[in-house]
Amino acid sequence: MSDDRVLPIGGKARRACPTCGKPSDERFRPFCSRRCKERDLYRWFAEDYRVKTDEAPPEASPGPAPDGDDEGR
Ligand SMILES: [Zn+2]
Repeated sequence: MSDDRVLPIGGKARRACPTCGKPSDERFRPFCSRRCKERDLYRWFAEDYRVKTDEAPPEASPGPAPDGDDEGR
């Protein structure tokens, strides 16, 4: 058994920052800076919030329920 295989961790394999695309920094992996990290986090929060507020149940719409009556005709 020989551990000749070197895993690409914190070395040659540098991943691009998911926020701006710059080479990531070891201290802020996988981001390039603290700003990008926070930005990504904020984005997640904002997206989650937006989805929750945007997705209103159609059943909650006020007004008479469409029963299929032909009252108006
Ligand atoms: Zn970045």
